[in-house]
Amino acid sequence: MLEIAGLGHRYADGHQAVEGVELHVARGELVSIVGPSGCGKSTLLRCVAGLQRPSEGRIAVGGRPVDGVPDDLAVVFQDYTRSLFPWLTVRDNVALPLRRRGLARAERRAQALAALAQVGLDGTAGKYPWQLSGGMQQRVALARALAYRPALLLMDEPFGSVDAQTREDLEDLLLSVRGGTDPGGRADDGGGGMTILLVTHDIDESVYVGDRVVVLTGAPGRVHSELRVELPAPRDQIVTRGLPEFVKLRAEVGRAVRRP
Ligand code: ADP
Repeated sequence: MLEIAGLGHRYADGHQAVEGVELHVARGELVSIVGPSGCGKSTLLRCVAGLQRPSEGRIAVGGRPVDGVPDDLAVVFQDYTRSLFPWLTVRDNVALPLRRRGLARAERRAQALAALAQVGLDGTAGKYPWQLSGGMQQRVALARALAYRPALLLMDEPFGSVDAQTREDLEDLLLSVRGGTDPGGRADDGGGGMTILLVTHDIDESVYVGDRVVVLTGAPGRVHSELRVELPAPRDQIVTRGLPEFVKLRAEVGRAVRRP
């Protein structure tokens, strides 16, 4: 689904943010990306999103080279206050990107309502984002991404601005929706569900939600190591985090992040 080869990016001021990044992500996989602050995680994600043209290397999504924002992509950023439009209702925020799908207005609204129900926000459609709590606003941002039914979902510290309890709820929500992306069912996703790339600075979170954790080195960011997470499903905040395998993995990731 996603192929990154020899990716490097140097900003105009000469700062090399990432270098020689190699990463292959299979359809339906959830890959967490961790690394020390400033190692180029967001730069990497922006390059995959087609928001920034890398100075070296190749990126392909679904076999097509990234040259601009790919069609089947959605992004959830950390700062929901800047990603939701305050003058649009919750429903209209969620429905807006569906114009790009060429759907009729009634269909856009129906799909938006189904996605809101999927994230447990029935009854908020007519409200404005600023009438909701931070956690609810981030759910709206997630609903907007889900309504679009992307083949690839990019998330940049998506739960970094909410309190600890809400963060756990949102992690579980992500796990519950990832397989069945489709409120309305989608014929052309090959049945493999969404592919997700999640950038986080939270080591426990990277292991808890991930099928695989990719650790980047300090600047310039390169792939330091990859760890496969084979924890039983469904994951549970109390049970999973108490498993010896979880404790071992988070220690390994922690060591890898701290190693220069
Ligand atoms: P991370 O997400 O891992 O914290 P970023 O990708 O945000 O890292 O940034 C990597 C490095 O690139 C940092 O040193 C940052 O200051 C630098 N950087 C990010 N954006 C720009 C930019 N637009 N121009 C110059 N340097 C940048």
